[in-house]
Amino acid sequence: MRKSQLKFVDAHIHLSDPEYNQKVAYIIEEAKRCNVVALVSNSMNLETSARSIQLAKENAGFVYAAIGIHPWSVTNLTFDELQRTLNFISQHRTDNAMVVAVGEIGLDPQYAKRKEIKNLQIRVFQEMLQASEKLSLPVVVHSRWSAPKIMNILPSYNLKGVLFHWFSSPIELLPQIIERGYYVSEGPPTVFSSQTQDVVRHIPITNLLTETDGPVSYYGPFKDKLTTPAFVPQVVKAVAEIKGMVENDVAEQVLKNFVNFFGIKI
Ligand SMILES: [Zn+2]
Repeated sequence: MRKSQLKFVDAHIHLSDPEYNQKVAYIIEEAKRCNVVALVSNSMNLETSARSIQLAKENAGFVYAAIGIHPWSVTNLTFDELQRTLNFISQHRTDNAMVVAVGEIGLDPQYAKRKEIKNLQIRVFQEMLQASEKLSLPVVVHSRWSAPKIMNILPSYNLKGVLFHWFSSPIELLPQIIERGYYVSEGPPTVFSSQTQDVVRHIPITNLLTETDGPVSYYGPFKDKLTTPAFVPQVVKAVAEIKGMVENDVAEQVLKNFVNFFGIKI
């Protein structure tokens, strides 16, 4: 297979982020030119969840939506907003097949210095897990500084699937992640960060997805550039080098993982 026929996926980007607003059409066109065949627009709160769905509707078959409440959004969350977001998630699951996951959800102690915020983060995370269980949707998890705690919470729920996006916790946790059949996604740091490269080395290719987490910006060859799905081919190249595989096999397996995890037909 020629390189130009490789198919890439961005399993985690915040296309719903206001920073992308004016650039969405360009980003999608550029992604397609780079052989990216699908992306999942993650959400931070109710507003960006609605935006992710709108983008999925406007770009059916290419953009898919993950909706939910990010731990960073918990700080100012009211009870009313939590309820409205939960209603929104179940409403859009039943009449909209473009919603493929609950995300981005999780815990982040850096954004929960006060005890009541810490507790609220846990409560919201549990609500999101309950919703995904009820609606039979996989979850996309933010686990910075919190992966061990999250690993303890997850078994209480009967989840369709779990994706640890931008996994950056000690690799000692990986055997458990693999054993439970969870996935890990890694992005541009695969090219320049030895910590991420170490994760990629230790996670089987059958449990790995590629992402960008845009509009987060990066260092290395990505410095001062707008993060877009067009970065994914470089991530796949780096994965291939680390694992001693050919790029074609990496891209093919990652696409298979993407289809399996999100239940999308491509
Ligand atoms: Zn994210």
